Amino acid sequence: MLTDIEIADQAQMLPIEEIAAKVGLKKDQLEQYGPYKAKVTTPIKPVEGKKHKLVLVTAINPTPAGEGKSTVLVGLADAMNQLGHQTTIAMREPSMGPVFGIKGGATGGGYSQVIPMEDINLHFTGDLHALTSANNTLAALIDNYIMRDNELDLDPRRIIWRRVEDVNDRALRNVVTGLGGVMQGIPRETGFDITAASELMAILCLSKDLMDLKRRVGQIVVGYTRAKKPVTVKELGFADAITILLKDAIKPNLVQTLDHTPAFVHGGPFANIAHGCNSVLATQTSLALSDYTVTEAGFGADLGAEKFLDIKRLTLGKTPDAVVVVATIRALKYNGGVALADLKNEDLDALKQGFVNLKRHVQNIQNYGLPVVVAINHFVSDTDAEVQTLADLCAEMGVKAVVADAWAKGGQGTQDLAKTVVELADQPADFKPLYSLDLPIAEKVKAVATKIYGAKDVAFSKKAEKQLKSFTQNGWDGLPVCIAKTQYSFSDDQTALGAPSDFTFHIREFVPKLGAGFIVALSGTMLTMPGLGKTPAAVNMTIDENGVIKGLF
Ligand code: ADP
Repeated sequence: MLTDIEIADQAQMLPIEEIAAKVGLKKDQLEQYGPYKAKVTTPIKPVEGKKHKLVLVTAINPTPAGEGKSTVLVGLADAMNQLGHQTTIAMREPSMGPVFGIKGGATGGGYSQVIPMEDINLHFTGDLHALTSANNTLAALIDNYIMRDNELDLDPRRIIWRRVEDVNDRALRNVVTGLGGVMQGIPRETGFDITAASELMAILCLSKDLMDLKRRVGQIVVGYTRAKKPVTVKELGFADAITILLKDAIKPNLVQTLDHTPAFVHGGPFANIAHGCNSVLATQTSLALSDYTVTEAGFGADLGAEKFLDIKRLTLGKTPDAVVVVATIRALKYNGGVALADLKNEDLDALKQGFVNLKRHVQNIQNYGLPVVVAINHFVSDTDAEVQTLADLCAEMGVKAVVADAWAKGGQGTQDLAKTVVELADQPADFKPLYSLDLPIAEKVKAVATKIYGAKDVAFSKKAEKQLKSFTQNGWDGLPVCIAKTQYSFSDDQTALGAPSDFTFHIREFVPKLGAGFIVALSGTMLTMPGLGKTPAAVNMTIDENGVIKGLF
């Protein structure tokens, strides 16, 4: 079979106005970035007579290559349209960190992709660059402020606003800025995060409109005074400048799938170290215009789906009508203890052992009161006996499992899943939140750790405990929590595969993100700036004299 990029390169794209017209968007509602990409001017009013149903695609704990969530999502949307159910996609835009790092692109794969895949995986419409610039402009303004009069007495040792870039760059995790003498600023210890983990990315993804974005930017806490009082961007007077830099980035991007399904690809927070869902504006726009919107939440359902349901839901104002949990035979065998190199070999025992991982994810979604179906993302290495075993295990627990061949056959291979999803989404669901916002922060962390991860309790470091006290004094208790955790395990130990239980979950530190409207809880050793592996995807990439790129997967 051809590579993802070869398939994408051969695709006949439709002009973006034609894709827009499919959902009733007119040319004057588009800002075109070349013939095949456009930003959409919001707000878009909900179209009367549409069903406005939402389907959330999530997954089990993955192998390092990803389990094909985006691939199944794209195939599913294409299949739904092929069957006459008008469907639009809302998904995240890729960060260049993983594209050049371990995972490669994030535009789906095989015959289920959003295109133009090269553009989307590289600089796209510049949203991540705008976020990086806005973030670092704020950092420069803060450093200038403390070097000048520093009227609010902002403590250089207590500034929590860090710089960002959209690169996996471990060398910048911890840095000292302002070195070189009197004219170079006040020396202080700080560091870089990846743009996808930044508070501005979360703000962009959770804002309802430009003024909501400005309000949220104003609420960002950049650090503390010497008297330990929090200082916000609004108090410093920088909110408008930072918002100006994001005035275009906030508009959802419209592209198409290989089968010409309209796809809003906008906002890209990681799900392990950030909240993991595409922008509220993209999802709302898609919902307004469509019978069905298919959207995703990153990594496993313990991360992305939990954050969708406990964080994004609050501003989106809508819960999913159906949830698809993507599972692969490979990842279940991996969760059952098989080494990465041996995943191609049939191993029914390991599959049965690893099934506990899928089972817990499905039960978690059921505990939210949402209808769920398992999509078995089919790989050529899967044997018939393995597929049958997995289907039987799902049937035993009373959940439907459908084989999806989105990768090899596109929408044609995903129609069975599409039929089941439509049936589920058209039934009423009865959503139950995981925790009440009135609970103290520590209790919210405990609710996620015990009810979703299977932990027996949570241990907070001394630093985290001290922070909780000051956060309560600052009146921040009413916010939801966004837990930064490994994507490979339900626990904070990435080697504990399957469905670990009876473990203690460790919180090292909290980071207040008042603009985003949540409190980040950093577990174990999670870092907010990834590093590159031994053989980054970058080393296998080529470009020739005609600009033809290979190795972007
Ligand atoms: P996720 O969204 O879960 O991270 P992706 O959809 O991005 O996963 O897929 C990750 C990679 O795996 C892509 O390169 C894709 O082409 C490949 N892939 C996905 N499904 C299959 C499959 N069924 N067979 C072979 N490769 C697949």
